[in-house]
Amino acid sequence: MRTPAGFECRYFYGDYYRGRSQEECRLIGNAAPPHHWTPDICKVCPVPRIERANACQNMKITPTVQRGLFGLKKSIKIHTYCTLSQQEVAEPEVGCGQCHPLPPIFTESK
Ligand code: SF4
Repeated sequence: MRTPAGFECRYFYGDYYRGRSQEECRLIGNAAPPHHWTPDICKVCPVPRIERANACQNMKITPTVQRGLFGLKKSIKIHTYCTLSQQEVAEPEVGCGQCHPLPPIFTESK
């Protein structure tokens, strides 16, 4: 579904049927303030970009909403973990490399 920021995200849910205006992020969920979700957070969220680059089903993304002084500056801190290799993923756009290894032509030096 398209987020308020204008791009597709599979975790965003909006119900506008018959005048309703319910929006939620089903990844962040009902986190307690000050880490709760608001629609403007989607603008700074890296999750859709990461999932466009790496669609690995074994990588679990855990976002945490961060708010600066007086809640003005908002950002999302991402924690990624691979359930197959059981390690943290340093570069989520690339992945840990366990289930999608590069062909030898890219890894062997001559
Ligand atoms: S906060 Fe991120 S993960 Fe949640 S709906 Fe918005 S873009 Fe998607």
